[in-house]
Amino acid sequence: MKPVLWVKGLSYRQGGFSLEVGGLEVYPGEILAVLGPSGSGKTTLLRLLSGLLPPEEGRVEGGFRVYLPQTPLLLRRSVLENAAFGLRLHGVPRGEAHRRAQALLERVGLGTKARQAAHTLSGGEAVRLALARTLLVDPEVLLLDEPTASLDPANAAQVEVLLREAAQEGRGVVLATHDLFQARRLAARVLFLLQGQVVELTEAQSFFQRPQDPRSRAFLEGRLF
Ligand code: ADP
Ligand code: MG
Repeated sequence: MKPVLWVKGLSYRQGGFSLEVGGLEVYPGEILAVLGPSGSGKTTLLRLLSGLLPPEEGRVEGGFRVYLPQTPLLLRRSVLENAAFGLRLHGVPRGEAHRRAQALLERVGLGTKARQAAHTLSGGEAVRLALARTLLVDPEVLLLDEPTASLDPANAAQVEVLLREAAQEGRGVVLATHDLFQARRLAARVLFLLQGQVVELTEAQSFFQRPQDPRSRAFLEGRLF
């Protein structure tokens, strides 16, 4: 299978921080969890993978990627207009964009809120709206920065369903999270970052059951943060 995203010899410096990823491939239908303590470089890696941030060295290539920041920006407009926004940017006529946006809002459980002002949504609803807006433009790769970090378990579970569906549709999903349970539930593979270095890049099952590196064990046991 051809990867939807691949990385070779990536390196990036930002003040005293440097990030290095020797090689990485993400496949269609796969969820890759990016784990690591705060400040380990998860957000920087996602931004590099998205192409928003140019690397100093190395290459990042792949299909159509969309990066969803930790706090998605919503316009001071209706939920429907926010959902349709990406399509409008891609030149889809208003009527069609609104029809397609409405259909996706139904799917993420926001069908009845379409006319409401976006800023009146709860945190969980806002994340689902941002996901709907992203899915509508049909990315091959979704790059998600801790999408459930501020959500209660019920809302987080709804978001997890959408992430699973996105992968089942054949998208590559890169999910930065510090929720280890979530990574266990969703991810096929794990990339564990520490101070900008890849400590392990492996099958999720082996990462959680037989971590190879003592730093991975420390992280999993909550002794590293
Ligand atoms: P994480 O998402 O894992 O918490 P980040 O990628 O946000 O980690 O940060 C990695 C490192 O880069 C940290 O040391 C952080 O302080 C630093 N950093 C992040 N953004 C900037 C910036 N705009 N300018 C300088 N340093 C930054
Ligand atoms: Mg971050």
